[in-house]
Formats: sequence, C-alpha cells, structure tokens
Amino acid sequence: MNLAAMSPSDILALGARAGAMLDELARISAEPSRLVRLYLTPEHRRAADLVAGWMRQAGMEVSEDALGTVRGRFSAGASPDDAKAPRLLVGSHIDTVVDAGRYDGPLGVVAGILAVDHFSAGGPALPFGIDVLAFGDEEGSRFPSTLATSAACVGAFDPATLGFADRNGVTFAEALKAYGKNAQDIAAAAYRRDEVAGFVEVHIEQGPVLEQENEPLGVVTGIVGQSRLRVVVTGEAGHAGTVPMELRRDALAGAAELILAVERIARELAADRVVATVGRIEAEPGAVNIIPARVAFTVDVRAMSDEVRRSAVEQIESEGWRVVEARGLQVAFEPFHEAVTAECDLTLQNTLAAAIADLGHRAPRLPSGAGHDAQMMAKLCRSAMLFVRCRGGVSHNPAEYASPADIGLAIAALIRFIERFAPGQA
Ligand SMILES: [Zn+2]
Repeated sequence: MNLAAMSPSDILALGARAGAMLDELARISAEPSRLVRLYLTPEHRRAADLVAGWMRQAGMEVSEDALGTVRGRFSAGASPDDAKAPRLLVGSHIDTVVDAGRYDGPLGVVAGILAVDHFSAGGPALPFGIDVLAFGDEEGSRFPSTLATSAACVGAFDPATLGFADRNGVTFAEALKAYGKNAQDIAAAAYRRDEVAGFVEVHIEQGPVLEQENEPLGVVTGIVGQSRLRVVVTGEAGHAGTVPMELRRDALAGAAELILAVERIARELAADRVVATVGRIEAEPGAVNIIPARVAFTVDVRAMSDEVRRSAVEQIESEGWRVVEARGLQVAFEPFHEAVTAECDLTLQNTLAAAIADLGHRAPRLPSGAGHDAQMMAKLCRSAMLFVRCRGGVSHNPAEYASPADIGLAIAALIRFIERFAPGQA
C-alpha cells in the first residue's frame, strides 16, 4: 500500500482545481440567471462533453452509454492481469434541479476525475482499473423518473420509464432519440457483476450534521428509502358565485385537507425519521371564479426503515379515502417511484473512515436522507458514499456551498481510499 504523503498545500491546490471545474460546469445552464441543467437537453450535452474532455486529459478512455452516462475508463496496472481485475466505479450526476447549486452531483464527478488524474500523473500503479461515471438522471427534474441512468448501469432500467413525459409532453423515449441514443442499446449498458469491485460516490451532505460535528467529511451508513406518488382528487366544477357552500364538491379544498394530513402523519412518525413532502400541485380548471374540479399533487415519503415508510404511505391513503368520502369527492393514488433503503457496505465504510483518519480527521457516520445513484449501484456491487460538509446544510439552492479546503480534503480522502482499496477484500 503506497500512502504517499500529500501536503496541506497539495490538498488546497486540489480543492482550488475542483472549484474551477465546478464553476465551469455551473456556467452550463438553460437559463442565464440561474442554474438549470435537465437530463437529455442541449445543456446536458454540453456538460457531458466538458466532462468527457476532462476525463481524456486525466488519461481516461471515454465512452457514453445508451442513456447518456459518460464513462471514463482508467487502467494503469503494472501487469496486464490488472486490467482484467474487477474495476472500482466512482461517480455521481451532472443533471441539476431547477435553480440549483453547483456542488450537488458535479462534485462527485470532478472528485473522481481529479483522483484518477493523481494516479495517471505519477501516482502509484493500481492493481485494478477505475471507471468514472457521470450520470444524467439523478434529480428527476425533467421526467417523473429518478436514477434511470444508474439503473441502466446495474441492469435495472424499467422500460416503462420510456413512456414518461416531461412538462412539455416530450417522452423519455423521444428525448433519448433526440439526444442521439437508441433505446435498443440500454440492456448493453449494464455492467456484469464480475467486472465490478465496488462503487463510491463523493457528494455534499445536503444536511447540517457535519457542520454541527465540526468535521469536513463523513461516511454514509445507508440511504433512506423513498416512495413517490401522484394523488388526483376529483370533484365537480361550478360557478364560484352561485353554488352554495354545502352543495360544493371542491377538489382543492379536499386536497388541502389531505395535504395537511400528510404533514401530520409524518410528524407523528418523527421518531422513525419519516419525512413527507407535497412539492407540486395543479388545480383545474384553475380560474379565479370556478370551483376546482380536479387537483393533482405529488407526495414524497422517506424513511430509513422500509416497513415504516410503507406504513406511512398506507396511512396517507386511508386518510385520503376518509377525506374524499366526507366531501363527496374521488381520489386516485398513483405510485410512480419507489426505492428501498440501501445500506452502505461496511468494509467500504471502514476503508473510507481509515482514509479520512489518514488525513488527520474524525469520520462521523451518518445516514443520507436524500436519494443518490449509490443506492442504485448497491444493487450491482458494494457501494459507499463520502459526504462533504456544506454550509448551513443548504442544497437544491443557489446558496449551496462547500469550501475549497473541504473539497480538497474530500478528493485527498478519495485518493487514499483508492490506495487502500483492494478488490478482493472481504
Ligand atoms: Zn445529488
């Protein structure tokens, strides 16, 4: 094991380099005044090309799979057998939410590239290769799908996703074709189990724990499961001036009652760390003087325990039936996404913690309340995540910030992790 010393100034220089790359990526946006980079858009194309160029400069061979994931392949073993050894996968996503920050996702891609750059620019030879992956559909901001790109890498892509439409009615399949991809090739994007030794993702924490702990880096123990559903409440449209209150079947008032119930149910389950959110709502016909006839809204429920999460969803549904019955409405629940809780591999957690200790830091362990590509990759191989402290725990917001010093430490820890990583380690 070659743990070549990395000086504090080397680490700061790494952070500064990463910061410049993150700034460059953040300039690629659909809108001039805020960061919006959705999956399979011209902005995605430009970001993918920029990342591919960096990968080549870092000594990687670059390809792109059928869902647009950019793959940089690095092999620098001392013997030809090393190239055949199971590979370590490192990556994160380059799509963003609307009005995003610049660290969520791109940090993990840039960290992977700079870590590989360290080894290709004279670091120790490795007995295994590394693939750096830049996924494109993590946030689910364009289509009602998430983790579609990492799902393809693990052979778990759901073909129903191809029929999902964005807000403009463009389907996933149409967008894929316009991006120059062929849906027939999706199956070929899957890694074989025997060619992969593990997956590691560097990501901002998106929460306040590391800041409270006064530590720059943390090791993720697991990623919470999620359920997402679309709820449609149907009533009857009517004149806002002439229909008496007791004769109304107001879909929006019913939806409002149910939305408050969603909040109450999650609060009652706070000890189990259940969180539930209604983030999007549409009322039809949507006029100031018409009683709403139809309301559609989304519900997002997350918990570390799959059992508790499913029971929260059941409670929300039974509450919904109660509300519509009392109000003479109808309701439909349409689940569109479910992810089970993904535990991070304990050996890889320990390797990450040891890498962080090599840099003179403690490594608090914490669960992730946000979904990540690592949870999908856990279906294929041992997976782990390194969290980086972010200011105020803020993310999905232009105020998102991680310091160059912390980012430099994260990349140094990833390099240490790679040096310590042994594909066969149990
Ligand atoms: Zn992310």
